[in-house]
Amino acid sequence: MQVGRYHRQEIFYAIGKEGQQKLQQSRVCVIGIGALGASVANMLAQAGVGYLRLIDRDIVELTNLQRQALFTEADVEQQLPKAEAARMHISQMNSEIEIEAKIVDVNPYNIEKLITDVDVVVDGLDNLETRYLLNEACDKHKIRYVYGGVVGSGGMCMNVLPGEGPCLECLLGPLPEEGSYDTCDTVGVISPITNIVASYEAAETMKLLLDSESVCRQAISLDAWDSYTEFFDVDKDPECPVCGKHQYTRLEHRQKNYTASLCGHDAYQVTPEDDGAFDYDAVVERLRQSGEVKQNKFFTIFKNEEADFKLFPDGRAIINKVADGDTAREIFAKYIDQ
Ligand SMILES: [Zn+2]
Repeated sequence: MQVGRYHRQEIFYAIGKEGQQKLQQSRVCVIGIGALGASVANMLAQAGVGYLRLIDRDIVELTNLQRQALFTEADVEQQLPKAEAARMHISQMNSEIEIEAKIVDVNPYNIEKLITDVDVVVDGLDNLETRYLLNEACDKHKIRYVYGGVVGSGGMCMNVLPGEGPCLECLLGPLPEEGSYDTCDTVGVISPITNIVASYEAAETMKLLLDSESVCRQAISLDAWDSYTEFFDVDKDPECPVCGKHQYTRLEHRQKNYTASLCGHDAYQVTPEDDGAFDYDAVVERLRQSGEVKQNKFFTIFKNEEADFKLFPDGRAIINKVADGDTAREIFAKYIDQ
């Protein structure tokens, strides 16, 4: 008898044929396609989740290959965006599911549009600011969100179930000041921990999609080097600005040009407000008058004596070799947002 690709899941007691069909009708958005996100996306594709939206703003770099298992040296050479490289590799493994790659920066302007038509959002992010924004957007739209984070050899994860349990801010408290906490850029990260946390996130996502009674209601803290795994309860804080009072300060904080420093990149990203008026081709044509322009399918590289940046079709730019956000915004205003 011929058996299908999901046979081993269909005979697993907690999924069955019915559960498998449910997975195939499910939609998941993975935000951040680095070590965590690429791994989770791969596992969900293997499991047959019918629709995956993969969101990432970055390009595959050599230093990613130490832990981001989906990517190859060829991706680095071709400067492929992570979302697109992941889509390409994953669809070679499972061509029966739909995978959408979004090469965008998740910010207050676009986050709601990106997550409101999916069943579960998975966190593969590398920064707390965007996580806190995601936490607000998920609370506002009552979308279930699987948090996962890693640094060094340690990691954490927790299901954020709006209306039912604590949120990310209940778990982590107010957003700490930039520079006051460890990041992968300051203390590094090893791949065993990213794989363990990604596995927990993938399992929790499958359980949420199946409305399983086994959905984890606790937070998990673990360390692959110090060899421990702890499960602990988190109280929903009635005074929590997000899940208690439903105040969404980050979501509502929309500046004209939103700037973010890109850790470890010596670069700043400038994202203009999306008013639908950005004309990518026209801007690229104009850039040709002021310096060297190289273009591929995904972005344009511009260089002259003063400026060095990548411009994306959504109007976002990564300004290289600048000391601060103000200089980045000046270059953005002079060359792009005229
Ligand atoms: Zn909360």
